[in-house]
Amino acid sequence: ANFQSLGVDAALVSKLSEHGINEPSPVQAESIPAILEGKDVIAQSQTGSGKTLAYLLPLLQNMDTDSRATQKLILAPTQELAMQIVREGQRYGEGLGIRVLGLIGGAAAKRQIEKLREHPQLVVGTPGRVRELIALRKLKMHTVTTLVIDEVDQVFQLGGAADVQHILRSTMRERQLVFLSATMNDDTRALSQQEMKNPVEVGI
Ligand code: AMP
Repeated sequence: ANFQSLGVDAALVSKLSEHGINEPSPVQAESIPAILEGKDVIAQSQTGSGKTLAYLLPLLQNMDTDSRATQKLILAPTQELAMQIVREGQRYGEGLGIRVLGLIGGAAAKRQIEKLREHPQLVVGTPGRVRELIALRKLKMHTVTTLVIDEVDQVFQLGGAADVQHILRSTMRERQLVFLSATMNDDTRALSQQEMKNPVEVGI
């Protein structure tokens, strides 16, 4: 398979090719079509498997670029991973006119609040800071159509379960959920059973 046959648009295919990425990895081959279709997906995948592009490409492609609303939210366990996802999102989203913002703990909330006024369509953050900005009504959740949680197992290990529950409660009922986890432990299974509708399971 190639990216085009998975349903990825020509503009993204050519951007991937610029970065020497021509052949989808296994997690990409299974996840991209399902996420593009709007399905809930739970994927077991390690760092280095290409998991970031497995969800970023369909999120970027499904973005309504005519709308200024925040449509896609990605949660990551650490500031470092969140910023890595921001950079990857900018690399592939820029050509499509998609604005990407990182909302991480440890950086000034005030500046992030200012940046939210520029209407980023894709937001990437750590659970604590994202929850805080939702509570302050600075991050509007009623327009978010897809929520991705990367390294769900790590989020739990770092004590983010309560933050995730709050964030999930603030999403609309018909949102798409995508979870990625290196391990499939009880917490991750329970969360997906509780929150997802007929999820497509990848690599499990
Ligand atoms: P990740 O697993 O998301 O942390 O990605 C690991 C690295 O692999 C990143 O530097 C990606 O740019 C790169 N990558 C992702 N998908 C592919 C692919 N299909 N072929 C080659 N490299 C890839």
